[in-house]
Amino acid sequence: MSKTYIKCPNCATENINNDYCSNCGTILNVVLKRKLAREKTMKTRIEKQSAEKPSKLGAFLKRGEEHSNILIRGFFKVSYAIWYFFAVILGGLIAAIIAAAAG
Ligand SMILES: [Zn+2]
Repeated sequence: MSKTYIKCPNCATENINNDYCSNCGTILNVVLKRKLAREKTMKTRIEKQSAEKPSKLGAFLKRGEEHSNILIRGFFKVSYAIWYFFAVILGGLIAAIIAAAAG
């Protein structure tokens, strides 16, 4: 592998094959930087997702109800009703089972 000289955009230190600047610690590896950014975005998304229930699927189905095609709209309406039914019923069931198991 060839040596890669990367000039730190933060402090202008020359680094050789470094992912991080030896002087100030700035990320120099663009691929790594993107990867970290992506992981961060993913983490925030997951946190946001678990914070806001009912789920993404429910929101997706709800959005589909406003589709311009009546057949698709109908399909989404039924799907949403089914999803809602299961979310409520299963949610209640699971809560009941947990309660029964606990005490
Ligand atoms: Zn630096």
